[in-house]
Amino acid sequence: MTPPTLMKLENISFTYETSPVLENLSMSIEEQDFVGLIGPNGSGKSTLLKIMGGILKSDTGSIRFKESPVSKINKKLFAQSVSWIPQDHPMVFPFKVSEIVLMGRHPYLSPLSFESKEDFEISQRAMETTMTAQFSDRYFNEISGGEKQRVMIASALAQNPEMMLLDEPTAALDLKYQVQILSILKNLNAEHKMTLILAMHDLNLASRFCNRLILLNEGQIVRDGPPQQVLKKDILEQVYGVEVDLDSKDGNIRVHPAIRS
Ligand code: ADP
Ligand code: MG
Repeated sequence: MTPPTLMKLENISFTYETSPVLENLSMSIEEQDFVGLIGPNGSGKSTLLKIMGGILKSDTGSIRFKESPVSKINKKLFAQSVSWIPQDHPMVFPFKVSEIVLMGRHPYLSPLSFESKEDFEISQRAMETTMTAQFSDRYFNEISGGEKQRVMIASALAQNPEMMLLDEPTAALDLKYQVQILSILKNLNAEHKMTLILAMHDLNLASRFCNRLILLNEGQIVRDGPPQQVLKKDILEQVYGVEVDLDSKDGNIRVHPAIRS
């Protein structure tokens, strides 16, 4: 039985200035999907996430969230349901970790109202889930890259969304922190039924953590399916323009750039 559709995109096109970035793109995201959005630099991953998160508006086509056209959903309600985590998060003002997580509650506050006990409790739980509670009093500017990324996830989680869109959440992190972030996300997906879409570059990690990969190239979906069906030698070589070796001894796929002497 296929799970219900959470978000449906139909014929989405988008152009920043002159050259088209996304062309006639259609796809459905099902509840509890854990999608790795992969593809070369410039293939349109960030743009697609911004359109799904309502940050950018597509030039053509439609997006539905649980059957309702996103254009007709109240902005605040949509912000409660879908959270987008940008790739870089410039934080100019010195906020404490706990304050940033609490900001995730903003879509629930009415103008001029203060955070309630419930808002603090939800933020606390979000920090515990992301292992950020132990440094909640520290300033965001003064924590490491891996810790910052977990704080951003905690803040998104405090929003209590049904779907999270993450733009390269593991970029610039060492292997240990990449795995830590992906494990936190995997737990959210499995235990909290969170639907996740992650732009990412590491094809091996993507194939181990995601149940579905969407491969973008030049603004179009080249392949969409379970990792074994998407990570094919011929397709990767064509899209990335580099020879690759693939092995799958134990069911895990490994992609290596081929080094020929
Ligand atoms: P990816 O995230 O896969 O690297 P992007 O969605 O960031 O791809 O970019 C897709 C294309 O859109 C690229 O050619 C990029 O140069 C262009 N682009 C991205 N952001 C902007 C922008 N703000 N203004 C103009 N062009 C942009
Ligand atoms: Mg990008």
